[in-house]
Amino acid sequence: MKVKRLRVTKDGLDLVADAARISGVPTMHDSREIVEFITFNDYSSALEHIYFTFDIAEISVALSRELLEHRIASHTARSTRYMEEKGFDYYIPEKLERSAKEEAAEVYRDAMISANESYAKLRELGIAREEARYVLPMALHTRYVVTMNVRSLINFFMLRLCVRASPEMRALAMRMYKICLAEYPGIFSKIWCRGYTLGVCPENEVRPSDCPFKNILVTKQELKYVFEGQAKRIIEKELEQLTEVV
Ligand SMILES: Cc1cc2nc3c(=O)[nH]c(=O)nc-3n(C[C@H](O)[C@H](O)[C@H](O)COP(=O)(O)OP(=O)(O)OC[C@H]3O[C@@H](n4cnc5c(N)ncnc54)[C@H](O)[C@@H]3O)c2cc1C
Repeated sequence: MKVKRLRVTKDGLDLVADAARISGVPTMHDSREIVEFITFNDYSSALEHIYFTFDIAEISVALSRELLEHRIASHTARSTRYMEEKGFDYYIPEKLERSAKEEAAEVYRDAMISANESYAKLRELGIAREEARYVLPMALHTRYVVTMNVRSLINFFMLRLCVRASPEMRALAMRMYKICLAEYPGIFSKIWCRGYTLGVCPENEVRPSDCPFKNILVTKQELKYVFEGQAKRIIEKELEQLTEVV
């Protein structure tokens, strides 16, 4: 997997701070302070003014489909209609690569060789790329260009840096995160998975045993258990006072 930063909004801290200042932020705060406050308190719409564009190579088609689920982004994927895929490279899951079960690794490799041969044969028989491509596997390497604003990137990192994300997706998110952190440390140092960012993990009972924060972060369920009864009574009281709605 290769991830490169193609573009980033320059002077993004000033841009976001200037946008916030139109609503009267006290003048003694500089751009860095304003943006850090906006990030930590989740007043995130102003962060939409900063964009990153990434060039992502050597990822699987399966991963590119997961990436496309992030709708608040601009996506461009390599075309299997217009590009030749003869002799394609492919993703090998790390666990399979390191697998003690040699047979499993062999089955996987054979499937890739077979798909490669079938694709090449269909092309030799004069079958168009757009038809031959249906024998290509999800592991096929593809190239992807994605542009996301910082608000959407924060949402992406919160979901995809979690250990519940697929290993290939998490590997991609880590690489994108390092690029973002280097560019805007004041913003991204406050961000990691949802648990770290929010201070409480919403994964609840499905939080996996290999979560590195398991012993130091409470789940949403555990936290709600403490205050929910009392909070429910407050909400009921507020609703009771709203007498004009029947
Ligand atoms: C561990 C994990 C497992 C997953 N498993 C599956 C799965 O089994 N099947 C599957 O289909 N997907 C799965 N997903 C993908 C997931 O459901 C989301 O589609 C994906 O993570 C994109 O998140 P998003 O909607 O927050 O991002 P974006 O699409 O970028 O949206 C960003 C935010 O904009 C808002 N938004 C966007 N569109 C709408 C809308 N139409 N209406 C209201 N608000 C909107 C929401 O607040 C959203 O959080 C999984 C994701 C993770 C992290």
